[in-house]
Amino acid sequence: ISFEDFKLNKQILNAVADAGYTLPTPIQEKAIMPILSGQDIMGIAQTGTGKTAAFVLPILMKLKFAQGNDARALIIAPTRELAMQIEENVKTFAKYTDLRTVVLFGGLGPKTQIAELKKGVDIIISTPGRFLDLYLEGNINTQFLKFLVMDEADKMMDMGFIGSIHRILEVVPRKRQNLLFSATMSELVHKISGDFLKHPTVIEV
Ligand code: AMP
Repeated sequence: ISFEDFKLNKQILNAVADAGYTLPTPIQEKAIMPILSGQDIMGIAQTGTGKTAAFVLPILMKLKFAQGNDARALIIAPTRELAMQIEENVKTFAKYTDLRTVVLFGGLGPKTQIAELKKGVDIIISTPGRFLDLYLEGNINTQFLKFLVMDEADKMMDMGFIGSIHRILEVVPRKRQNLLFSATMSELVHKISGDFLKHPTVIEV
């Protein structure tokens, strides 16, 4: 199986080639098609397996090009480092599209992040707390979200984000596609996935 088999559009395939990826990794092989077909996914995969591209590529494919002002994909990550890393991946693969991303995290003033949001965005990558703060202050419209991704869910549970995750689930549209990734399958991850995913396809690598 090759990246061409996923019927990704040319802009994305060219960016994948530029990144030097020749063959999909096992998680990419198993996850990309089900995501493209609209299924909810629970992916059990460690960092280093290529899990980021496994969800970023099909999301970019489905969003295609910039639209409106408000985000259509929200990617939640436990730490600032991971959020920034995911944003790097998104930028790498979106470079031949006009899709706009913003990364949000705490630990510094929100001014720049608010200004970025105001310019219009297609994909938000955020830590849970900063997303909620900016949402509650009226800086984010969640009405048009189609994709919700939770990366490193086990780490999110370990860091005590379960309350924030539940609040986020309360402020996003009911009808959406959900993708959850976790390195391990703990009891808490199982619980949150039950609250979050609808009839998920489970993928383990
Ligand atoms: P991740 O597990 O998403 O953090 O990715 C781990 C590393 O593997 C990153 O440096 C990626 O750029 C790289 N990577 C992901 N998918 C592929 C692929 N299909 N071919 C080559 N490298 C990849």
